[in-house]
Amino acid sequence: MNNLSWPATIILGIVLGLIAGAAENAGVGQNEPSASASESPSATPDSGSGGGSGGGETNPDTGGSTEANTVTLTFDDGPHPVYTQQVLKLLEEHDAIAVFCMVGQRAREHPEVVRQVVDAGHALCNHTDSHDEQLSGRTREQIERQIGETDEALDAAVGGDTEVRWFRQPGTYVQPQVRAVLDDDELEPLDWTVDPRDWSRPGSASIVQDVLGQVEPGSVILLHDGGGDRSQTVAALDQILTGLDAAGYRYVLPGDP
Ligand SMILES: [Zn+2]
Repeated sequence: MNNLSWPATIILGIVLGLIAGAAENAGVGQNEPSASASESPSATPDSGSGGGSGGGETNPDTGGSTEANTVTLTFDDGPHPVYTQQVLKLLEEHDAIAVFCMVGQRAREHPEVVRQVVDAGHALCNHTDSHDEQLSGRTREQIERQIGETDEALDAAVGGDTEVRWFRQPGTYVQPQVRAVLDDDELEPLDWTVDPRDWSRPGSASIVQDVLGQVEPGSVILLHDGGGDRSQTVAALDQILTGLDAAGYRYVLPGDP
């Protein structure tokens, strides 16, 4: 937060102080990526199992700037007919843009939600067709199918009105064998730097505390608008956006200044 101005730092400190008490009993501190999630596939994590537990891993493909006071918001596992709409409403209220990493099967079920996301000015990201968390172990043909069918589902939903530029691998940072396919498809890998593990439903106060406590210029924040009950994420999002606004952050797409 070294780039923050004095007033922004103070305001963020106040926001953090206000929520700290509420978060104390809500499992704060479970930020480390874990590969041992036991939740059902419909509520699975995007926590990195690809060696990210050391905390010092470089993560060059997040695309975030380290210069400007910017942050990238990402929402995974949608589209969802209820939670995606609630997220869109909050983003609009805070004049924020985000990247939505969508599952192909869900895009075919709710194409109208995909359309709403794009119409609101947000960007799409390919998150495989079936949220395949074993993607790294698949054949190249299977990986291509997971990515290709999602691409077709998103294209069909929006009528080709937007270009899908990013890919996020379910459950992990993008792995080398998947990256090779991305290069052919002209997709960019999209990882993350801030993971409040909202999918595990730790309480909205914990989600807020983790995000505002860890955010720094260039952060890529991982949240979920699908894959289960996301009411805690929605409840946290208003406070997160209020805190980021107060700290002077601008919302950008990956790689944008
Ligand atoms: Zn996911």
